[in-house]
Amino acid sequence: MSAKRFTMLIIPEGSHQVRRFTVQRRWLSIAASFVVMLCVGGGLVLFDYLRTNVDRQELDRLRTENRSQQQEIGRLCANIEDLRKEMVVLAQNDAKVRVLAQLSGPRPDALNGIGGPPEDDASTEFSELQRQIDQIREAIELRRESQEEVQGFLNDQRSLLAAKPKGWPVKGWLTSSFGMRNSPFSGKLKMHEGLDIASRTGTPVYATADGIVSRAETAAGYGKMVVIDHGYGFKTLYGHNSKLFVKVGQRVKRGDKIAAVGNTGTSTGSHVHYEVRLNGVPLNPKKYL
Ligand SMILES: [Zn+2]
Repeated sequence: MSAKRFTMLIIPEGSHQVRRFTVQRRWLSIAASFVVMLCVGGGLVLFDYLRTNVDRQELDRLRTENRSQQQEIGRLCANIEDLRKEMVVLAQNDAKVRVLAQLSGPRPDALNGIGGPPEDDASTEFSELQRQIDQIREAIELRRESQEEVQGFLNDQRSLLAAKPKGWPVKGWLTSSFGMRNSPFSGKLKMHEGLDIASRTGTPVYATADGIVSRAETAAGYGKMVVIDHGYGFKTLYGHNSKLFVKVGQRVKRGDKIAAVGNTGTSTGSHVHYEVRLNGVPLNPKKYL
């Protein structure tokens, strides 16, 4: 198309006159460009409109979602706050138990220092929530450690209680006390390291605390005797028996029958010679009856 000008004919139906326009090619190009630009522009506007519409719906959805998430976070904060309060109460109870158990004060946790409403900024809010959760977790760990310590203490107490000699080893009556006395045999002043409890021959002799039999034999002076090791440094000795009912290494409980009263060894009558030793040192058994 190399023509510079075009002629357009408009031919109406019937007998009307034919109209004739002459257009320069340049103008035709400009018009065509204009139409193209119009189409493209219109398309863009339409596309933008549709996209905005979609965005608006998305925005509405997000807003609703955000609101419900805010409420959810609010609930979470309230829950964490409740947990925190419960942990504070637990810590207070723990401190009381530790005082009763005469343990040192508990390690402090950070729970007393936190709280307050969450921030508006979502990221601060979340890091604050995370921080509170971490603190509660740490507090739980501290309480767990403390509980184990208290439990250990109670176990020790129970073992110590079971290991500490308590009560009479035999039904009878005291005939000789602990301390310096004139020996009934030599007449000389001599330390009597136990109690003599008189009783009829054959009367049962009982262990006065839990422990392990460390000696069950006939020994010079003591006759047929039993020694029980109770741990915690405690040992008890029962002498002059007529019969022994336990063997070395045997575990015994307080109240177990270990021997029968007799008159064996250096003895002037049927009785039990009863000793309590702590780390090898004889104690006055009267304090443990
Ligand atoms: Zn004695």
